[in-house]
Amino acid sequence: MFLPSKNNVLPNTPIYPGSHFTWGEATKNGKRPLEDLIINDRLIVSAGQIEKTIVLTAMALDLVRQKLGNHPIHINSWYRPARDNKSVGGSQYSRHLFGDGVDFRSDYYLPQQIAKLLEPTHNGGFHAYSKFCHIDWRGHKARW
Ligand SMILES: [Zn+2]
Repeated sequence: MFLPSKNNVLPNTPIYPGSHFTWGEATKNGKRPLEDLIINDRLIVSAGQIEKTIVLTAMALDLVRQKLGNHPIHINSWYRPARDNKSVGGSQYSRHLFGDGVDFRSDYYLPQQIAKLLEPTHNGGFHAYSKFCHIDWRGHKARW
């Protein structure tokens, strides 16, 4: 698929060179191509900005992966265009719309254990659900 930057990537293309995370993981195997985020007829973020955010998020997520002992982490949900966000019942300003919200799980740690490792120092959104964790980089600390 073509990214807004005109780079052509495959589902298994790393988000940046050396990343453990792929464009397929960020876009549900290409089924969620990046699009401008428009809320109430206002452009909130462009698709190009979302692409940049996904790259920065992959960098941060590689550090999270390292903190969790370099074991694989599985992405349940990352970027969501507005239509998909609505159909999964996401909130209107969900960080998944912006490209910096990620739901993930680990084969090695339960969500509560991941919370103990990440939650104290993470400057962004974090919540441990029963089967996965949500993490985002919204720019300030948020817990719920
Ligand atoms: Zn989430």
